[in-house]
Amino acid sequence: MNKTIIVSNRLPLQISIEGDKLNVTPSVGGLATGMKSVHAEGNGIWIGWSGITSEDLDSDLKSKVNAKIENAKCRAVELSSDDIDDYYLGFSNRTLWPLFHYFLEYTEFEKSHWEAYKRVNKKFAEVVLNTVEEGDTVWVQDYQLLLLPQLIKDVRPDITIGFFLHIPFPSYEIFRTFPWREELLTGMLGADLVGFHTYDYERHFLSSVKRIMRLEVNFNEITYYDRIIKVDSFPMGIDYNKFHDAALAHNNQNTEKSELQKRLDTHINEDNDKKFILSIDRLDYTKGIPNRIRAFENFLNTYPEYKEKVRLIMLTVPSRSNVPQYQKLKSETDELVGRINGEFSTVSWTPIWYFYRSLPFNNLIDLYTSSDVALITPVRDGMNLVAKEYVATRTNQDGVLILSEMAGAAKEMNEALLINPNSFEDFATALNKALKMPLEEQNSRMKILQKRLKRYDVEKWAKEFFKTLDETNQLQEVVI
Ligand code: UDP
Repeated sequence: MNKTIIVSNRLPLQISIEGDKLNVTPSVGGLATGMKSVHAEGNGIWIGWSGITSEDLDSDLKSKVNAKIENAKCRAVELSSDDIDDYYLGFSNRTLWPLFHYFLEYTEFEKSHWEAYKRVNKKFAEVVLNTVEEGDTVWVQDYQLLLLPQLIKDVRPDITIGFFLHIPFPSYEIFRTFPWREELLTGMLGADLVGFHTYDYERHFLSSVKRIMRLEVNFNEITYYDRIIKVDSFPMGIDYNKFHDAALAHNNQNTEKSELQKRLDTHINEDNDKKFILSIDRLDYTKGIPNRIRAFENFLNTYPEYKEKVRLIMLTVPSRSNVPQYQKLKSETDELVGRINGEFSTVSWTPIWYFYRSLPFNNLIDLYTSSDVALITPVRDGMNLVAKEYVATRTNQDGVLILSEMAGAAKEMNEALLINPNSFEDFATALNKALKMPLEEQNSRMKILQKRLKRYDVEKWAKEFFKTLDETNQLQEVVI
């Protein structure tokens, strides 16, 4: 029976070793959910790194870990700490991530990291090639594995390969600065279908392929030797029902309230006029966090009537804290929050509640359901799932989403208040509009957003990709 092989940098598992006890738990991320029908419930195998470097596993432990991994229908790619330093922390996070998010000034073009990236992509290819059988389909995920499609196709031209990029693909003018641009595109062109979140990323990719590779591009099809490669957009959705149902249960008065919810309630019950504005993101320079704080300060100065009335709740999740730019961002954020709270606080009011940690799912639901406005303003973001999750939890169809135009999600969320995250005026006007928006207008906007997100959830996203991959496969048969 044909199988589907999913390949991503990390396996959808959390492995922890305490003494001689080994714990393996499935992770609950969006990708794992979308793949459930082909992986957990279907006939699939997931290939990726386990999260533990090879130095930390003696042979006895390794076979125990591998047995657990295989049991979860997964297969591990063994990576050393040098691999992780240079391929993942180095090339993926310090080169591809900033470059593809238009942060040229943060981008490091380090030859040794590029060599490690090639080496590790080959390690992934080896495991895939040992696993794949005639008739199988391989779906490669994201920017850590851009070279993998070609490495597989070179050895197994008969295998159907899909590739999906979860981050933006930058415009040609940015991409052309990359020293190994042709090799990277060649790597991606090993796929039969290349997918992006939005039509813009798709266009940028096609433009780079045309201008750098000088290949013939016909609408969204690329002719490459004797193959036709299809390029298309598939905006990734969320597990809509999971968020919606959790919010319904949360709003059911019979359930026990969390400590966080009790604290939020105290604030809400003080005064009917008081409003919460919520932002949730990883502490990443692409998320526009310092700018958002400054824009909030400007908003309080422009509309002083909101002082003591609104509170910005900022949940900032620690991320890549060993990269210098992230450390700088952390201190800049701490300072800004401190300065603004110092400037505006009164005995009974602090304008910003700032959490620097990740929160468990039920607390995320507390925040989403208690906030009147979500302020999601990345300066560049491939998609942004938080924006979609906020909408899914608004079971009374109230609340307003303010969303940056620079997030891929904005392309499907026209009923949100879309703003340019670099404009303080946009921030202030949108916040004022959101806080004053009549309930009927909130309802009508939310209704449309919810309907769209419910229909195109993460499972549908995966299905659409596979459907198109299948059609692409048939296209090849016609060409041959
Ligand atoms: N999230 C989480 N714990 C937290 C805060 C956020 O698991 O404490 C989740 C959130 O629910 C969302 C994801 O992290 O699913 C962030 O995805 P998004 O696309 O918004 O941004 P990314 O971090 O992938 O750039």
